[in-house]
Amino acid sequence: MMLRFTFRALAATSLLALTAPALADTLVDNVDGVTIDGDGDVLRFTGIVFDDDGKVTQVFERGDERPQVDYRLDGEGRVMIPGMIDAHVHVGQIGFAAMTLDLSDTNSLDEALQKIAQFSTDNPGRPWILGRGWNQEKWGLGRFPTAAELDKVVSDRPVLLRRADGHAAWTNSLAMEQAGVTAGAKAPAGGRIIRDEAGNLTGIFVDSAIGLVGQSVPDPRPSDYDRALALAQEQLIANGITAVGDMAMSVHEWHAYRRAADLGQLRIRVMAYADSPELMELIGGTGPTPWLYDDRLRLNGIKLYVDGALGSRGAALKEPYADEPGTSGLALTMPAQLRNLMSRAAMSNFQTAVHAIGDAANADVLSAIEELSETYTGDRRWRIEHAQIVDPADIPRLGQHGIIASVQPLHQTSDRTMAEARLGPDRLDGAYPWRSVVAAGGRLAFGSDAPVEPADPFAGFAAAISRTDADGQPFGGWFPQETVSREQALAGFTSDAAFAGFAEGRFGRLIPGERADFLLVDRDPLLSSPDDIRQTKVIEVWVGGVKVLGE
Ligand SMILES: [Zn+2]
Repeated sequence: MMLRFTFRALAATSLLALTAPALADTLVDNVDGVTIDGDGDVLRFTGIVFDDDGKVTQVFERGDERPQVDYRLDGEGRVMIPGMIDAHVHVGQIGFAAMTLDLSDTNSLDEALQKIAQFSTDNPGRPWILGRGWNQEKWGLGRFPTAAELDKVVSDRPVLLRRADGHAAWTNSLAMEQAGVTAGAKAPAGGRIIRDEAGNLTGIFVDSAIGLVGQSVPDPRPSDYDRALALAQEQLIANGITAVGDMAMSVHEWHAYRRAADLGQLRIRVMAYADSPELMELIGGTGPTPWLYDDRLRLNGIKLYVDGALGSRGAALKEPYADEPGTSGLALTMPAQLRNLMSRAAMSNFQTAVHAIGDAANADVLSAIEELSETYTGDRRWRIEHAQIVDPADIPRLGQHGIIASVQPLHQTSDRTMAEARLGPDRLDGAYPWRSVVAAGGRLAFGSDAPVEPADPFAGFAAAISRTDADGQPFGGWFPQETVSREQALAGFTSDAAFAGFAEGRFGRLIPGERADFLLVDRDPLLSSPDDIRQTKVIEVWVGGVKVLGE
């Protein structure tokens, strides 16, 4: 920043230098380029020029004459596409997951103990060793592991390791000691403490009893948030993602963004949605923040929740669950409260992104949007996050009021058998209804919900156009009438994901005036099979005309 400022100050005083506006223009030529253009159509091109500010100034088709520029890069005929945009991720959680010991690939207790010891050696600064993914069934152990076994590899720091299903924790003696959990401890309601025959603690805590030890895990420090952000950025960029919608961002995560960006270390672009109205107003005050740091960071609004998830039967359904007729899920936010919160945001022009999974939840958000649209007119871009199960009768409502359905194609492929069980065979017509939303005049933005699903836009792209998983299952696709076209998938992961965050005109397309955020990849997603698209290799990643990944 300082250097560039100095250069400009000098240039302004030098009469000769002033006549060379193309001084830092860069031409990337000889590429097989594809982008969504300003009209929403697919544009094929063979070269682009971007300027000193990292903005595209010209796009060339085959045969167009190239200008004289100072820098010319040869794309060697490779495929160039806009940087992928993941409309719904949790950046901090991606980073913290990367900082946690993952035992899901261990096949025996010994192997796990070795991995724990190694992680402890590799991470001397961590006050606690935290991990996940162990499974004594997979190990063939026939019993739970014990604190004593853990003590043999780490005794000088507390350790807490969650089981693969998250429903149990394995701790060492120091963790129990620091938490003040002694032999006489009682399990809270909904929890269990596993003891040996003599009644001693074994280090295993089940469900709500995990909190007895878990409450002593220290909150992450600012430096932990910084490290998490750095790791998350690394992972996102490696997968070809140059911009994200960060959902339910905390105040600590916002501060980490600001610290990173102040140091020039915010490499991706972030459209942020606060986790509470208080935080939204604390950061934005009377409205969304301006775009900060050359279009790298903006607080757009707030993330709200209407219901839970299908897996835990927390999604709010119009009729009872097929596999548990006693329940139809539960609303996390009551109708009046939802409208109050949405109104509080809309009044100050904040954008709302509302999590709704079940058909009752989606119907309620749609009604709320319809009511609020009478007061809050104009370009609001009401977002519904997930929109997984929608009553076919409600789908036309998704085409009204400029609603954006922010959906995650990989949820469909991961959850389809579970969705079949939860809903039964007769209520799947509006399940993950992508093509229907487009047909109704609605707009899709695609994302991953990482770390819930991998932040892999090419896997998401393949799922969007095929409704099959990585093994090609089910053959022919699950409700294949809801697949989208390749062009629609490209838009969903680029231009439409940008639009969903009020970022059109800034990034998402390779057209004059937008940022030069692009990838060089080894195949063309518009010409490849779903299987091939999943195997896409990201060769180079550029953000704002700067290479952030590649040789
Ligand atoms: Zn999410």
